[in-house]
Amino acid sequence: MVLAQLGTSISDALARMSKATVVDEKVLGECLKEITRALLQSDVRFETVRDVQANIKKIVSLDTLAAGTNKRRIIQQAVFSELCRMLDPGKPAFVPKKGKPSVVMFVGLQGSGKTTTCAKYAQYYQGKGFKPSLVCADTFRAGAFDQLKQNATKARVPFYGSYMESDPAKIAVEGLERFRKENSDLIIIDTSGRHKQEAALFEEMRQVAEATKPDLVIFVMDGSIGQAAFGQAQAFKQSASVGAVIVTKMDGHANGGGALSAVAATKSPVIFIGTGEHLGDFDVFDVRPFVSRLLGMGDLPGLIDKLQDIIPADQQQDLLEKLSTFTLRLLYEQFQNLLKMGSLGQVFSMLPGFSSELMPKGSEKDGQAKIKRYMTIMDSMTDAELDSPNPKKLMTESRTIRIARGSGRQVRDVMDMLDEYKRLAKVMGKMKNIKIPTGKMSDKN
Ligand code: GDP
Repeated sequence: MVLAQLGTSISDALARMSKATVVDEKVLGECLKEITRALLQSDVRFETVRDVQANIKKIVSLDTLAAGTNKRRIIQQAVFSELCRMLDPGKPAFVPKKGKPSVVMFVGLQGSGKTTTCAKYAQYYQGKGFKPSLVCADTFRAGAFDQLKQNATKARVPFYGSYMESDPAKIAVEGLERFRKENSDLIIIDTSGRHKQEAALFEEMRQVAEATKPDLVIFVMDGSIGQAAFGQAQAFKQSASVGAVIVTKMDGHANGGGALSAVAATKSPVIFIGTGEHLGDFDVFDVRPFVSRLLGMGDLPGLIDKLQDIIPADQQQDLLEKLSTFTLRLLYEQFQNLLKMGSLGQVFSMLPGFSSELMPKGSEKDGQAKIKRYMTIMDSMTDAELDSPNPKKLMTESRTIRIARGSGRQVRDVMDMLDEYKRLAKVMGKMKNIKIPTGKMSDKN
């Protein structure tokens, strides 16, 4: 089961539970059964699912809940916190500090996305004001250096490697010396992979690590391998003192839930996830916002971070304030922005209530088509309608029919658009209280 589907299945189960007239053992049991099934289908390990289920039951002991407590809310919170616990090994990873030289070594099997991820990691930190550099210590695979060069050039990060030298530890040390002299504060070493976990690979990793003394070893893993992630992460962890994991290819039809939970079971923190082939397809992995987004509850800090990336600094606070008095015209403008940006899904999925409804089941195309349909309907509205602080109140039957005719849609479509507007206006209302800090928000990683 793809991650977006896992999220939808769990939030559907919770929504059904919420609609029940009385929440009793039977309703809770049914809800837990659906959640369990969804987790197993997305390849989460059986042992983990069993623990999640038992813990939720323990928290939500219906008999002991005092009368008058909001059982639905307690169940929802228990599910949320158990999903967080499932993905959180409780151990933070080493975080590079700007201006203080750090060495980060990447390990992983061939094809996992290691070289691409080194460049994504470099670019991410470059965006935070670091001076990263890339060293190719992969002498095993022909073409590895060329590939790193290509990625480094795209990310505009200096690189070092050799076509002649066959000792990876020697190249790694040469690279370190060069970039230390050049005052790079984040030296990233890409090591070679193999098709299989084998002794030679682990021995090579050990030698490079011994020669370079990295502050952090990052294990890169393909997210589509599901449950096999546990064994793989464990093997690498034992051989290379892995301090953090990056799970790649979380964009595809991977059973990402399996990979993430399996990695967490090895007590290695996942710090980023790869979500595509481009260098920008790279997201900080923070458990609580991730689960929140997965369940369609939104991720406001993540949204603000994204806004900071794409909207000029002097317009950010202004935008949030504008959004909090939300008119149809504003919605129209935001749709325009989103369509222009392209990374529609990413931004939208951070808003509470967006991911499951406006952007259905991981399908950006459907979401875009819907947005364009809404915009066509708004094109047939008058200025007064677009600028009204309460357009639903204004919308008489004759106005609705006029708009539907003008846009070539059904009255039902107009009502649908207005319902969506109302839902979003409620969400946006909450934005009023958000303050965008100056500078970037998530300097945690
Ligand atoms: P390496 O052998 O581990 O160094 O892997 P590469 O960096 O060469 O990546 C292998 C393939 O996976 C390449 O085609 C990459 O473009 C692709 N890739 C890497 N990361 C991602 C990701 O997050 N999503 C997707 N869809 N493809 C990825």
